[in-house]
Amino acid sequence: MTFVYAFEEGNRHMKKLIGGKGANLAEMTNIGLPVPEGFTISTEACLDYYNNGETLSDQVKQETFAALKALEKKTGKELGGKEDPLFVSIRSGAVASMPGMMDTVLNLGMNDETVEAMASLTDNPRFSYDSYRRFIQMFSDVVLGVETYFFERELEKYREKKGYTSDPEMTAADWQELIQTYKQLVDTHTGRPFPIDPHEQLLLSVEAVFDSWNNDRAAIYRKLHQIPHDLGTAVNIQSMVFGNMGDDSGTGVAFTRNPSTGEALLYGEYLVNAQGEDVVAGIRTPQPISTMKDVMPEVFEEFQAVCNRLEAHYEDMQDIEFTVERGKLYVLQTRNGKRTSQASVQIAVDMVEEGVLTKEQAVDRVDPEQLHQLLHRRIDDGYDRQPLVKGLPASPGAATGRIVFDADEADRRHKDGERVILIRPETTPDDIHGIIAAEAVVTSRGGMTSHAAVVARGMGKACICGCEGMKINLQDKTIQIQERKLGHLDLITIDGSTGEVFEGDVPMVEPELSGEFQLLLNWADDVRRLGVRANADNPADAAKAVEFGAEGIGLCRTEHMFMEQERVPVVRSMILSETASERDEALRQLLPMQQEDFEGIFKAMAGRPVTIRLLDPPLHEFLPDLEELLIETTKLEVTGENLELLQQKQRLLRKLRELHEFNPMLGHRGCRLGMTNPEIYDMQAEAVFRAAAALEQNGMNVEPEIMIPLVGHVNELRDMRRVVEEAAARVTDDTGVRFTYTIGTMIEVPRAALTADHIAAEADFFSFGTNDLTQTTFGYSRDDAEGKFLQRYVDNGTLDTNPFVTLDRDGVGRLVQEGVTLGRQAKPDLKTGICGEHGGEPASIAFCEEQGLDYVSCSPFRVPVARLAAAQAAI
Ligand code: PEP
Ligand code: MG
Repeated sequence: MTFVYAFEEGNRHMKKLIGGKGANLAEMTNIGLPVPEGFTISTEACLDYYNNGETLSDQVKQETFAALKALEKKTGKELGGKEDPLFVSIRSGAVASMPGMMDTVLNLGMNDETVEAMASLTDNPRFSYDSYRRFIQMFSDVVLGVETYFFERELEKYREKKGYTSDPEMTAADWQELIQTYKQLVDTHTGRPFPIDPHEQLLLSVEAVFDSWNNDRAAIYRKLHQIPHDLGTAVNIQSMVFGNMGDDSGTGVAFTRNPSTGEALLYGEYLVNAQGEDVVAGIRTPQPISTMKDVMPEVFEEFQAVCNRLEAHYEDMQDIEFTVERGKLYVLQTRNGKRTSQASVQIAVDMVEEGVLTKEQAVDRVDPEQLHQLLHRRIDDGYDRQPLVKGLPASPGAATGRIVFDADEADRRHKDGERVILIRPETTPDDIHGIIAAEAVVTSRGGMTSHAAVVARGMGKACICGCEGMKINLQDKTIQIQERKLGHLDLITIDGSTGEVFEGDVPMVEPELSGEFQLLLNWADDVRRLGVRANADNPADAAKAVEFGAEGIGLCRTEHMFMEQERVPVVRSMILSETASERDEALRQLLPMQQEDFEGIFKAMAGRPVTIRLLDPPLHEFLPDLEELLIETTKLEVTGENLELLQQKQRLLRKLRELHEFNPMLGHRGCRLGMTNPEIYDMQAEAVFRAAAALEQNGMNVEPEIMIPLVGHVNELRDMRRVVEEAAARVTDDTGVRFTYTIGTMIEVPRAALTADHIAAEADFFSFGTNDLTQTTFGYSRDDAEGKFLQRYVDNGTLDTNPFVTLDRDGVGRLVQEGVTLGRQAKPDLKTGICGEHGGEPASIAFCEEQGLDYVSCSPFRVPVARLAAAQAAI
C-alpha cells in the first residue's frame, strides 16, 4: 500500500484516497495550472494512524520524507536549509469539504536560522520575522495546544509599551523581540522549548491534522452534513507562496459565479499584502474582486482565464483560492462552490442553456433539500422598509428572532422552543451549534466568504455579514446602531437577501417560484417515473399542492376536519351519545359539513385523484384533557354552585374514563373504530359520495379513493369495504348519479405487510403509512421516542439516521418490499404508494423508486422536493 502521493500522481477522481483538496490540487497540476508543488498523505494513512493508537507508522514517515526529498529537488529548496530554505503549508483535506473545521499550519520550516536566510533572500527582514512569529503562534495553537489568545495578549502588551496602534508600525527589530517572548511563552506553557527542527515540526503537524479529524467542531459538522465518521482526512503538504510580501502580493477567494444569486459573473474578494487565512477568517474586510483589475491588471486577466478554464474543466461553478506572490499568480485550491438554493437552480438552468449540461445532468445537480429553502418566506413587498442598518447579504431568506450574543445560549434557547438570532463580531467553527440553533446569523465583521457566510449558505439559513454599522458590545450585551441601542433578547427581523436589519416583527409573504425553478421541475417531471401526490385535508392546502405540482392527493386525513372549532361540540356529542338515536342525530349533523369539505377539496383538485382516509385516531383525542377535567369537576363539586354544569362535566369524565387506554396508538383506532362503530365510516363514506355525486351533476369528473387505516387482517378490510360499498349504492339510489370509486387500505402494521396477498384480495390499492409502520415495526412510540432516546441513538451511532425521517431500509423497508411483492402477486394491477413523512424525503423516495411504487405523497411544501428527488432516483 502506498500512503503518500505527489500532486503529479493524483487526479480529481481520487477523492476517497487523497481527499477533495488533494484530488483537485493534483488535477490542476496535471492540466498545467500554476499550483505550488507538493504532495498528499492519504486518508488511508489517517486510518492507519488511528489503528496504530494514534501514532504515525514507520512506512508513513519514510514515504513522507521521500516525498519531501522529491519536493526539495523540484523546488531547488531545502526544508531547514540555511541557503535557500523551503517553507511548506500543512492542510487537512477530507473527502467531503468541511470548510474551516480542521487544522492548518502555514510557514512550516521556520526557525532561527531559516528566518535569517529568508530575510537576506527576500531583502525584507520585517516580513520574514513577521512570518516567523505567525508560524510560532499558529503551530503552537494547532500542534502544541497553546491558544492564540496568549500570543495576541503579548502582542498587544508590546504595542502598548511602544505606543503603537497597529501592526504595520512594528519593525523587524520589534518582531524579533516579540519572537523571543513567544518562545518563552511556549516553554512556560508546554514545559519544552519550541521545536526548531523542521522535520520534527512536519511530523507533529501531520499528527495534529489527523487528530483534528476528531475534534468537536469537525464531528458536529459531519453529523449535520451526514458525512461518515470513519473516512479520515488526508494531509496536503505544499510549498509556501507568500501573499504578504508587499503591495504586489495578495490573496483572495473567488467564485466563478455569484454564489448567492447564480449570476454568471466572477464574484469574490481579495486583500493586498495578506496571507490566505486573513480572508477566510473574516478578520480584515476584503475588497471586491472586480477592483483587482485596477490594482494588478495583468494578474487579474490571468486569474480570469484560470477561472474560466477551471469552470469548463469541472463543468460546475468553482470556489477558487489564490495567492499572488510578487506579481505571480498561484492557485491554491479549487472546489465545486457552495451556493444558495436560488443560485443552485439558476446555475443548473444557465449551464443547460450554455450547452455545458444536459437537462438530465441539470436535474441531477440540484440538491432536493435545497429546493425546499426556496419555498420559504420573505418580507412582504408592501412593507415600508426602514432598516436600522445594512450589512452584506450573505445568505438569503428572512427571519425574526430575539437577539443573543452567544452560541451556547442560542443553542439552549432554541431547545426551549425560542426563536433567536445569533449576533457575533464574527463566527468561528466553535460557534457551529449556535448557528444551527439560530433562525439567522448576523456578524459585524467579515465578508461574503467569511465563516458565517459560508456555513449559513450551506445550511440555507439567512445571514448578514460585515454589518459594520452595528457596534456590538459583548460585555453589556447590547448593539449600538447610531443612536439606537438594542439589547439582549430584543426582537429583530433580518433580510439575508438584502442585508437589512429591522427592529421587531415584520410582515412576511409566502414565496413565488422563479421561472428557472419551474423549468427545472418540468425537466424533472420528464425524467421521473414515480407519481407525486400531496397530503392535504383542506381546500387551501389542496390548492397549494396543485400549485407546487402535485398530481393528486395521496392522503386526506379526515380527522383534521373533525377538529375544526365549531365542529368539536358536534363531534363530542357523537362520541358521548348514550343511545343509537343520539349518535345518529350527531352524525346527521356532521354529514353535510363533511360533504362540504370534500366538495371543496375535489374542486381544488379539478379531477385529479383524491385518496380519503376514514377516521383514524382514538376518539379521546376529540375530548378534553382528563387531568384538566378532573380539576374543573372537583372545583365545581367543592363550590356546589352550578349543578347542571357539574353533571355535564361528570358525564364527560365518565366517558373519558371509559375511553381511556394505556396504549392508545395501539388501541381502539383506525379501522378498529370502524369495526365497532360502522355508522361513523358509513357517514363519512356517504359524505364523500354525496360530494362526488354533486360535482358529477355539475359536469365534473371525480373518482374518490376511499382508504381504510390500520388494517391488520383482511377480514377488517372486507367488512369495512362492505360498509363503504353500501354507502355508495345508497347515494347512487338516492341521487341517480353513477360515479366510479376505489377502495384501498393503508399498510401500517407488520401483519398487513406480511399478509399483503390476502389483503390485496379486498383492496384496489395500498398506501404504505410508514409513520405507523415505523412505529409498529421498531415498537417505538412515534410521539415519545424522539425526545426520550431516539436522538441519543442517532448521536451515538446506534442508528445511522432517525427512522421516522429516513425510511429504515433493513427493517421497515423489507416489510414494504414484502407488501408490494405479495400484493402484486395476488393482484398484478394493484396500485401502490407511500403517504408517511418519508414520501417527501429524498433517500426514502429513492427506495420507493427501487421498489417500483406508483407514487409518493407528502406535505404540499415538499412536493417540489419530491418531484426532483423522484427524477434523481430514476436517473
Ligand atoms: C402513517 O402512519 O404513515 C400515516 C400517513 O398516517 P398518520 O400519520 O396519520 O398516522
Ligand atoms: Mg398512520
